[in-house]
Amino acid sequence: MSEQPTLEINALSAGYGRFDVVRDVALSVGKGEAVALLGPNGAGKTTVLRAIMGLVKQRRGLIRIGGTDVSALPTHRIARGLAAIAPEGRRLFLDQSVEDNLLLGALHLRHDKIRTQTLLASVYDLFPVLKAYRQRLSSFLSGGEQQMVAIGRMLMSDPEIMLLDEPSVALSPVAVDIVVKAMLELRKRGASLLLVEQRTDVATRVCDRLYVMTHGEIVDEMKPETIRSGGMSILNKYLG
Ligand code: ATP
Repeated sequence: MSEQPTLEINALSAGYGRFDVVRDVALSVGKGEAVALLGPNGAGKTTVLRAIMGLVKQRRGLIRIGGTDVSALPTHRIARGLAAIAPEGRRLFLDQSVEDNLLLGALHLRHDKIRTQTLLASVYDLFPVLKAYRQRLSSFLSGGEQQMVAIGRMLMSDPEIMLLDEPSVALSPVAVDIVVKAMLELRKRGASLLLVEQRTDVATRVCDRLYVMTHGEIVDEMKPETIRSGGMSILNKYLG
């Protein structure tokens, strides 16, 4: 029997108000796998991530993380080591220090100081610049450094699945490269990633598989090799 996926979504429909924004979504992320969700603006990619975190009510379907059905769990339970998100726009507390922002990711571990310190050390190992700036107010960081804090905060909850929402957006080419290398390093450490991206080059560098989403539905699944060997034109049609 094959190993159970870290994240398994089946027949998911979710949305806002009376409308379903995503319909009948099925996807999986295996243990140690990195999977991208590509699609144009408004396709529903962020809504899938928000549904996984319990931030958008799912109307139908099933979401399992590490075999646990999280469909009916509140966000604070899901955030306790099951899933964590580095959201679009990073959502840091800009008037707080780098370290305080990072520690917010490990709130549920506050009674376990040793584990918190170990996680903090692993974040500083991944992003040494954050260690140097740990007492600095987050508002003084560059966009790329703020993205590192958002990724670090996600790591601090030591989740089974890490969700990254467009980590490359509005960054300089150098900063994009740093973020890509960080995601590759997370992969080396065995992390399971679901990456929402609009940049195909970033997704193909980091991921094993790519789902394409348009108008709230998953319309295709591709491998980076397929895209490199001529599949780009198919992808461009989807992405407009
Ligand atoms: P983007 O790259 O622009 O973030 P996306 O693929 O992540 O796009 P979503 O953010 O999931 O798309 O949005 C999908 C649809 O849901 C859009 O039409 C959007 O306007 C709508 N939507 C998103 N958030 C809300 C909300 N809080 N209330 C109502 N509609 C929303």
